[in-house]
Amino acid sequence: MASMTPERWDWINDYIHQLFGDPDDHLAGLMARAEAAGLPQIAVSPDVGRLLGILAASTPGRLAIELGTLAGYSGIWIARGLAPDGRLITVEMDPKHADFAEAEFATAGVADRVEVRRGRARDVLAQLVSELEPESVDFVFIDAHKPEYPDYFRAVKPLMASGGILVADNVLGTSSGWIDEGHGTDPFNRLVAADPDFLATMMPMRQGLLIARKR
Ligand code: SAH
Ligand code: MG
Repeated sequence: MASMTPERWDWINDYIHQLFGDPDDHLAGLMARAEAAGLPQIAVSPDVGRLLGILAASTPGRLAIELGTLAGYSGIWIARGLAPDGRLITVEMDPKHADFAEAEFATAGVADRVEVRRGRARDVLAQLVSELEPESVDFVFIDAHKPEYPDYFRAVKPLMASGGILVADNVLGTSSGWIDEGHGTDPFNRLVAADPDFLATMMPMRQGLLIARKR
C-alpha cells in the first residue's frame, strides 16, 4: 500500500474540506467575523464540527457541557445536535469571547438552549458538580486549557450518563506544535486510555480528537 506523505495528507484534508464544509452562510461566515473582532482563529474545522453534531445527536441529547466557547462555532454544532428540549452549558473565561459567542448563538437561533458560563473551567465545573444531577450529562466537549484536561476529565466523569460521549480537541497538537514535539495532551490521553469506565479512541482529524463513550 502506498505510504502517507505530507503532500498526500494535505490533499486528503483538502478533499475532506471540499466535501464537508459549512452547512449555512451563518456558520460559514462566523470565524471571519470573529477574526475581524480580534478573536484567535483556533476553532474546530467544519468537518470536526460535523463530527461533534453527529456524536451529540447520537446521544439522548438532554444536557451537554462544552469547555472553551471561543466564538461559538463548535457550540452551535453541538446545540443543533441536541434533543429539541436539550441544553448546552458552555464555559468561557474571556469576557470578550463570551460576549461574541452569545451574539452568535442568538443569530444562529440556539440562544434558548445555550447558556454561556463565564469563568475558569475548573471553577465552573466545581459549581456544576454541585448543581447538576450525577449522570445527567449526555455529551461533553473539552477544548479549554490543555494542561488542565486531566482535571476536567475527573470532574465531568461522575456527571456523565452511561452511554454519554466525551470528545476532546487538540489531543495530538495545538497551533504551537504536535505531540511528537511535546504539544497536545499526552497525560490526559493516557488517563482516558487507562480508564476502564470508558471505551475510547482517537481520530487524527485536524489537531487530533479523543472520543470516549462512558460504559
Ligand atoms: N471550542 C471552540 C474553540 C475554543 S478555543 C471552537 O472550536 O469553536 C479555547 C477557548 O478556551 C478560548 O476562547 C479561551 O479563552 C478559553 N479558555 C482557555 N483557558 C480557559 C479556562 N481555563 N477556562 C475557561 N475557558 C478557557
Ligand atoms: Mg481546540
